[in-house]
Amino acid sequence: MAGPELNDLRRDLDEIDSGLVDLIARRLDTVAAVGKAKADTDTPVRDTERERAVLAGVEAAARRRGVSGDLVRRVFKEIIGHAVDRQSADLIPTSTATVRVGYAGAEYSDSHLAAIKHLAGRGEDAEFVAYAGYEAAVAAVSAGSCDLAVLPIEDTTAGSINQVYDLLRRGDVAVVGEETWRLERCLAGPADIPVNALTDVLAPARDLEPCAGFLRSVKGRVTHSESAMADVARRADPSFAAIGSPEAADANGLVILRRGIADEPENYARFVVLAAKPIDVDPRVPCKTSLVLTTRHEEGALLRCLEILAGSGHSLTKLESRPRPGRPFEYLFFLDFEGNVSDPRTQLVLDELRSAALYVKVLGSYPAKVTRVTPQPGTVRPPADSIESVVTAPTVAKSTGRLVDRATRAGDTVVRVGDVLVGEGFVVMAGPCSVESPEQIFAAARAVRDAGAHVLRGGVFKPRTSPYAFQGLGWEGLELLAAAGKEAGLPIVTEVMAVEQVARMAETADILQVGARNMQNFDLLRALGRVDRPVLLKRGLSSTIDEWLAAAEYILSAGNQQVILCERGIRTFESATRNTLDLSAVPVLRERTHLPIIVDPSHGTGNRRYVDPMSRAARAVGSHGLLIEVHPEPDTALSDADQSIDFRQFAALMGGLADG
Ligand code: PEP
Ligand code: MN
Repeated sequence: MAGPELNDLRRDLDEIDSGLVDLIARRLDTVAAVGKAKADTDTPVRDTERERAVLAGVEAAARRRGVSGDLVRRVFKEIIGHAVDRQSADLIPTSTATVRVGYAGAEYSDSHLAAIKHLAGRGEDAEFVAYAGYEAAVAAVSAGSCDLAVLPIEDTTAGSINQVYDLLRRGDVAVVGEETWRLERCLAGPADIPVNALTDVLAPARDLEPCAGFLRSVKGRVTHSESAMADVARRADPSFAAIGSPEAADANGLVILRRGIADEPENYARFVVLAAKPIDVDPRVPCKTSLVLTTRHEEGALLRCLEILAGSGHSLTKLESRPRPGRPFEYLFFLDFEGNVSDPRTQLVLDELRSAALYVKVLGSYPAKVTRVTPQPGTVRPPADSIESVVTAPTVAKSTGRLVDRATRAGDTVVRVGDVLVGEGFVVMAGPCSVESPEQIFAAARAVRDAGAHVLRGGVFKPRTSPYAFQGLGWEGLELLAAAGKEAGLPIVTEVMAVEQVARMAETADILQVGARNMQNFDLLRALGRVDRPVLLKRGLSSTIDEWLAAAEYILSAGNQQVILCERGIRTFESATRNTLDLSAVPVLRERTHLPIIVDPSHGTGNRRYVDPMSRAARAVGSHGLLIEVHPEPDTALSDADQSIDFRQFAALMGGLADG
C-alpha cells in the first residue's frame, strides 16, 4: 500500500502530466493559427531552418535545467512532426462524400488499422472494404468499385513486399499517399489467466516469424489461423489464446494477457495508398514521388540516374530492385524521392531521367508522412533537411513541353535491342512481310544474317486491306519467328495490332512494331508506353510529321522511352509507286527529335526494283537504318510479293551500302 506521502507525489505528477498535455494542445492550436496565417502565401509547410533553431533552443534550455538534451530533442521532433502533418492536412483537399477504402486481409489486421489511421488523418468519412488479397484490392480501385486501396509495401523486419511492387509495375493505378503503422503484437484470450496455463495459442501465418522467440517459450500447442482473435473469441475457452494486434483483441472483446510479444519491439510497416488517378499536391506540402525505372543494361547506368536525382537536390528515400520480366539478371527499380511532379524542378529531373533510362513510369506524387520511423541498422534515412533543399534550390531552365522534342534531351536517344544499338551507326532490319512456314522463316533468318542484317523482321498479325487476304499465322507465327531469330542470333521485330496482344507479345518480341494503319490508335500507343520493350512506330498513311511525333509522345509520356520512328511512305496523288517515300522527313526529324529514325523502302515504293536505290538514298539523307522485306521466293509471297526482294538481291543491296 502506498503511504500518504507517495500519494501526494503521484497527485503532483498527474497534475504535471495534464499540464503537459494542455501545453501540447495549446502548441498545436498555435500551429494551426500559423498555418492559417501562411494560407494565402507560398510559404512551404516545412521550414527546416526554423525547426533546427527550435530544436537547438529547447535542447540548450534542457541542458541548463540539467535534463537530457537528447530526450527533449526527441520529444520535440515528434511534436514538430505532428505539427507538420496537421498543417499539411489543411492544404489537402478532402472529399465530403464517404470514401470507399479497400484493404487486403481480415478486419483489424494491420492493413485495416493503417487504412483507418490514414483516413482519420485526412478527416474524411470512410467505409472500409476487406479483400482476399492485394491483387483483388488493386483490381477494385482500377474498376472504380473502391476509391482508395491501402496496401503494405515494406516492413522494418520482413523488408519489402514484392507482390505489391509487382502490382504497381503491372497495374494502371497511381500512388496518392503513404502511411506508417507500428506493428504491435499481443497475446489475448477470453479470460485473464497465466500464460503458462494455456493449452492452445492461435496465430496468423505472418506473425509466426516475428513472434518466434515468444512462441518457443509458450507451453501450449501453436496452431495457425488467419482469424486467430475472432476464432478464440468464438470458442470462449479460457485455455485458448490468440496472437494479433491489441486493436483486434479489443474489437473481439478479449483480455490482453501479454503485450509486446514480437522479438523486435520497434517494428513498423509502410503502406501505399492507391487510387485510379494521380493527384495534384499543393506545392507547400512536403511531398514524395514514386516511380518505376529501367536502366540501360550497362555499367554505371543506375548510378547515373541516382546522380541526376542527387545533383538536383531530390533526396532519395527508397530504392528497391525487382527482376525485369523476360530479361534474366536485368532489373527494374522502384524509387521514392522527395519532390512533387507539379514542381518545374521535379519535371526537369524527370526529363533528365527519361533520357538516361529506358523506361520511366511515374506512379504519383503524394504528401510525405514525416512521422520518423526508428531506422533499422543498414537502412538509409534521408537527412532531416533534405526537403528544404528541394524547396530552396535555385530555379533552373524551365522544361520545354514535349518529351519527343530535341530540346528536352541533351543527346540522341539510342535504343538498345540485344547487342544492336539503333540510333548509333546504321542498322538493317530484314525478313519477310509475313511469317509463312518454318522453312521460309528459318531460311530467311539465315540469309539476312549472312548478308549482314542486324534484326529479323516478320509479320504474324497482318493488317490487310481485305479481310479475305492472308491474315498471318498469329501466335504460332511468333513462336516460329522467335525460334528462327534465336537460331540466327538475331533479335526480332513484329507488328502488334491490338491492346490485348501487347503484354504477351512483349514477352517474346524484341521490338514491337506499330503499323502505319495503327499510328493513331491511341489506346494501343498508351499500352505500348507501359511496357518495357522498344517500339518501332511507323508513319501513318496520311500523317503529318507533327501527328507522327504526337503519336510517339503518347508512348514516351506513358513511360516507355524506347521509340524508333520508321518512314514508310505516304499517300500522295502520285500513282507510279505504291506510296511516296518521304525522305525529306528524315532531316526534318533529325532536327526536331532526339529519337532514331529508320526508313522502309519496301512499303515506301511497293516495287522491288526501287528498294535498292531508295535504301542508298535513305542512308545518304542521314537515317539510322532500314526495314526491308526479303523472301526466299518473292513471287510466291503471301503478302507484299511485288516489293519483296530475294536473298541474292538483298546481299547485293547490303554490299552496295558497305561500298557506298
Ligand atoms: C509491314 O511492315 O509489313 C506493314 C504492314 O507495314 P505498314 O504498316 O507500313 O503498311
Ligand atoms: Mn508488308
